[in-house]
This record gives sequence, structure tokens and C-alpha cells, in this order.
Amino acid sequence: MAKIGFIGVGNMGEGMAANLLKAGHSVKVFDLSAAAVAACVKEGATAASSVGDAATDVGAVVSMLPKGEHVRAVYLGDDGVLAAATEGTLFIDCSTIDVASARDVAGDALHKGMMMVDAPVSGGVGGANEGTLTFMVGGPKAAFEAAKPILEVMGQNIIHTGGTGTGQAAKICNNMILGISMIGVCEAFVLAEKLGLEHQTMFDIVSTASGQCWSLNTYCPVPGPVPTSPANNDYKPGFSAQNMLKDLHLSQDAADGFGASTALGKAAMDLYEAYVAGEGTEADFSGIVNMIRKS
Ligand code: NAD
Repeated sequence: MAKIGFIGVGNMGEGMAANLLKAGHSVKVFDLSAAAVAACVKEGATAASSVGDAATDVGAVVSMLPKGEHVRAVYLGDDGVLAAATEGTLFIDCSTIDVASARDVAGDALHKGMMMVDAPVSGGVGGANEGTLTFMVGGPKAAFEAAKPILEVMGQNIIHTGGTGTGQAAKICNNMILGISMIGVCEAFVLAEKLGLEHQTMFDIVSTASGQCWSLNTYCPVPGPVPTSPANNDYKPGFSAQNMLKDLHLSQDAADGFGASTALGKAAMDLYEAYVAGEGTEADFSGIVNMIRKS
């Protein structure tokens, strides 16, 4: 069984760390939130006193942090992971971040004799808790093979996407589709309401017709048809509108930088910008249906 440092045990990281513990690994956790650390200690983890401590005397470090700036600080800072870890330590960053940060940090790690993969996830908090996440893993083949047994404890589909940064590329492209499709589904439901069509009737037809997609079939943005969707829980996240907006910024920045035409990605980003600035600050991303209904 491996000794693993885990940095960032928030909504996603807590369940992921718990699954490593359940599989018999020894896990040392660090988070800026003492409450988040305490929740993991309850599950059997050891509390690390700093980022550096979490990376000391372990075979692997897993991180699950909000943004690229946090990943850079945690890995490259003075008391950071790279300064503390011994040569040969494996780094697995599961955060959703910009491709440039992923490549910079992995480059510095390689320079110091460490292997690193970017391994962002799809599957949400439910997938993190149940160990059914999909991991999109960018990095050298040897690093992927080394990370795979650890990722298999936390996920169901572990896909090698190619070189460093391609895991993040896959993730931001997927979430650009998700943001666009969610808005499309919301607009269609609001139009259907205005045309006098019941939600359930609309769902029964479209979920088996050519308009079907994850945003409708699994995460339906109106209450009723899919009991587990946040629409039935007052639009509590779930996957927050703020995180969706972050990811749409990542895809737009990448599109601008690499000259890709993403008109709908840009429109989705603008709509989520308005939603997060207004009623959607704390809401799930499917709650944008309420803004669309009023506009
Ligand atoms: P979160 O805010 O709940 O957790 C992040 C944790 O990182 C927090 O507990 C925070 O205290 C900690 N943290 C921040 N800076 C730190 C530092 N310097 N040192 C130690 N700890 C630090 O966020 P989350 O929902 O768990 O998301 C984490 C990542 O996973 C994000 O990149 C997000 O986009 C991605 N993601 C989230 C979901 C989801 O459904 N929530 C789904 C897929 C991917």
C-alpha cells in the first residue's frame, strides 16, 4: 500500500481521499480549511502541518485545488511540493486548470526528477464519493502507468489523453460542450413552457429523441423528470455556476490563444458571467434556467 499526500480536500478532494483510505493506502492531508482536514482525519487520514509536510516521506502527491494559481503556489512555492518531495515522487494534479500552468508545473517537476500527470476529472461530487470518476490523464506514458493504480481507486475510466496538458485540454473542451448544451436545454424548456408543453412530456420525448444529451437526460434543469438533479434541491451545487464560468474562461482563453473559433463557447461564457454576477453566485450551473426564463 502506498503513502500518499493529498492537498485540497474540499467538495471533490474529501471523497477522493476517503476512497484512497478505504483501499488501504495511508493518506496525509493538507488544506487551508481546518474543517476540511478534520473531516478527512475522521475517516482515518493523518493531518499534515503544511503543503511541504504533505509532500514529505510519501510516494505520491495528489492535489485537487480550485485554479491554476493555487496549483502553481502549492507546487512551486518556497514550502511547496517540489521543494519538499524527494526525487522519484509521483505528482497527480486532479484540479481543472489552464493548460499553461499544467505544463509549467510539470516541466519544473521533470527538471527535479519527478514524474507528473495532469488528471482532471469528470463525474462531480457524486463520482468523487462513489469512486466512479473519469480521469483525463496527460503526461508521459511512464507517469500515466505509475499513476493508474492510484487513479483506479478513485475512478472508473482512466484515459491517457497524450502528453502533458492534454488532460486539461480534454476537460475544458468537454466542459465547453457541457456549458453550451445546458443553455440549449434550458432555452428549449423555457420555450416549451411558453408553448404550453408539460416538463415531463418534453422530457419523455427529447430524452429519447435526437435532442438527448447529458444536460437533459441526467441533469435535467427543471424539477421533476430526473429526481437526482439539483433542480429538485433548490439548485444547490452539484457543479457550481462559478466553476462552470471558470471552465468557460479556460476554454475561451485557450481558443483565443490557439486561434479556434468558438462563438457558442463565448456566448455561453457571457451568459454564465451574467448569471454568476446576479442570482447564480451560489447556485448550481443548471439554475441558469431561472435567469433565462426571466430574460
Ligand atoms: P473546493 O473549493 O470545494 O475545494 C478546493 C479546496 O482546496 C478547498 O478546501 C480549499 O481550502 C483548498 N485550497 C485552496 N488553496 C489551497 C492551498 N494553497 N493549500 C491547500 N489547500 C488549498 O473545490 P472542488 O469543488 O473540490 O473543486 C476542486 C477542483 O475540481 C476545481 O478545479 C474544480 O473545477 C474541479 N472539479 C469540480 C467538480 C465539482 O463538481 N465540484 C467536478 C469536476 C471538477
